[in-house]
Amino acid sequence: MITSESQTVDQQVSTGHLPGEAEVASLTTTAYERYRQLDDGRVADYIPALAKADPALFGLSVSEVNGATHDAGDSDYSFSIQSVSKAFVYALVCEAYGHAVVKERVGVDNTGLPFNSVMALELNGGHPMNPMVNAGAIATTAMMPGATPAEQWELIRTGLSTFAGRQLTMDGEVYASEMKTNSRNKGIARLLESYGRLDHDPLDMVDIYTRQCAMLVTSHDLSVMGATLADGGMNPVTGEQVVSAEVCRDTLSVLAASGMYERSGEWLFEIGIPAKSGVAGGIVAIAPGKGSIGAFSPRLNSAGNSVRGQRAIAYLSRALGLNLFASDSKRQTGKVA
Ligand code: GLN
Repeated sequence: MITSESQTVDQQVSTGHLPGEAEVASLTTTAYERYRQLDDGRVADYIPALAKADPALFGLSVSEVNGATHDAGDSDYSFSIQSVSKAFVYALVCEAYGHAVVKERVGVDNTGLPFNSVMALELNGGHPMNPMVNAGAIATTAMMPGATPAEQWELIRTGLSTFAGRQLTMDGEVYASEMKTNSRNKGIARLLESYGRLDHDPLDMVDIYTRQCAMLVTSHDLSVMGATLADGGMNPVTGEQVVSAEVCRDTLSVLAASGMYERSGEWLFEIGIPAKSGVAGGIVAIAPGKGSIGAFSPRLNSAGNSVRGQRAIAYLSRALGLNLFASDSKRQTGKVA
């Protein structure tokens, strides 16, 4: 096991710069235009209210750590955040408990299985493995401070709103629709309880988790929320410190390993930055120290990731130089003009 010894050494940051604002704006529009006609994938329908989504919708936004945001397409269209909320609730819980406790209780390793897998939980003795699958997300939501479920929910609602820099509201129809059909999540919560890994009433925790998933955001909101994680925890639009820089680092490493579910390795290989997706079609991708991309388009691939969103982010990662693993010796030695 890798210990937390590295935590005792002062950490320096490793970052670069985005191109100028006008170029970022123009590349955002280019990415939108390139993929707006793509119609692969299917709208999620296992939550009945989500099946009504217009598959033609496509919003794309890039927020820089200086607060500038560039929008294209349906960037002000509201959709339910769904699993993208897992990233931000995890950050709030990390802020409350710190690195070691959350690592031990929820875990940081990919399950290699779909987000709603019951088998993953059984195979790992009831340990949820990571906070980005439903089991780990329900366990994380249950760790949220607050004396009652209502207080926990209020802290989540305000916490997510602080990341977005505006008051977010819940889509009551999506919440009610999912609560009627989410027997599987209720089963996962009961299973966590049976393994002694949930200190609260399982159904209360599924209720809060389902509410957090039904929060309405736009691609613009997602890019601001992501830019807060890219900016050492300070919302670059409001200037508010939402979580610490250490929490951002911990959250982004977990997203890199598991944010795109069982396709996280492929995502990192092709795109090279941490990201989180949700079944309504949202994706947030974060370039530490630089900024963040928010995308929304309802057609999904078989792992539940937005097809247009993925493609647009892949394009922008290359065009904006975001891939964390890319380096170029020629640039350092000045051999390239
Ligand atoms: N609320 C959804 C669920 O629990 C979120 C899943 C997702 O976005 N991948 O099934």
